[in-house]
Amino acid sequence: MFQSLIIAPTSNRFTVIKTASLVLALLLFSFSISPVLANPERAPELETVTFIDVFRPTHEAGPPIDGDGSCTAQSSSYKTIRGGIHWQTFPVTYWIVGNPLDVAAMVNAVESWDNEEHPVGDFFAPAGSEAAADVVVRWASIDGPSGTLAVTGISFNPATKEIVRATVTFDSDDTWANQPTISCEDGSLNGHDVENVGAHEFGHVIGLAHVNDDSNLTMYTFVTQPGETMKRSLGPGDREGMLALYGGASGGGDEGDGGNSCPPGHARRNLC
Ligand SMILES: [Zn+2]
Repeated sequence: MFQSLIIAPTSNRFTVIKTASLVLALLLFSFSISPVLANPERAPELETVTFIDVFRPTHEAGPPIDGDGSCTAQSSSYKTIRGGIHWQTFPVTYWIVGNPLDVAAMVNAVESWDNEEHPVGDFFAPAGSEAAADVVVRWASIDGPSGTLAVTGISFNPATKEIVRATVTFDSDDTWANQPTISCEDGSLNGHDVENVGAHEFGHVIGLAHVNDDSNLTMYTFVTQPGETMKRSLGPGDREGMLALYGGASGGGDEGDGGNSCPPGHARRNLC
């Protein structure tokens, strides 16, 4: 290509001059653009927050906070992550690697958040491939039976507070099940409910942290018994948190408490 720029029918001297001029011009051009080439737009340095969710059976005494023995979350408490990191491009795409029953349960868990009122339109959508997904869900060995049930990692740009990708890993060493109904009383002891834990993990994925005052909230810190399913359904605090992050009436984005009035020790249920 370089040669093609030289005018052919001419003397050797002319060709040399033209070549030297062209080289000089290219050098000057290189100097003029070198600062740009030396400082291409830098990719943002991402940070990652990781939540390790564990099974912690609790039988502590304390009256049900709703007083009637039901499993309805009452608290409007929520807590955001790092001052309100959140997704800024929608839909957020996901890819689930698992057997068909577990994948179906996880889709239900995603939809429990997706179906909420929020002004961003379609929040989640299936990805075309694992490589193209913003969120990848899979099962893998973590720490053997019990202990850790799932781990969610969220990568974000600290400058813009934008979440850019997330991973959810269920511990394949634990026993998993898919309960047919949404009822905490229905919790049989044959394994941990995928949708129950999945809904909690996707609360982290959208930018919510743990709350400790109402064990019926989806974002309550622990799975308290095998087979529990009450985390499938969002409670007042879960909804408040989502609206705070994605433009709802609650506004803000900083870590918040939407009005917890439950005294310490009274939020946990001895039997669900
Ligand atoms: Zn968690």
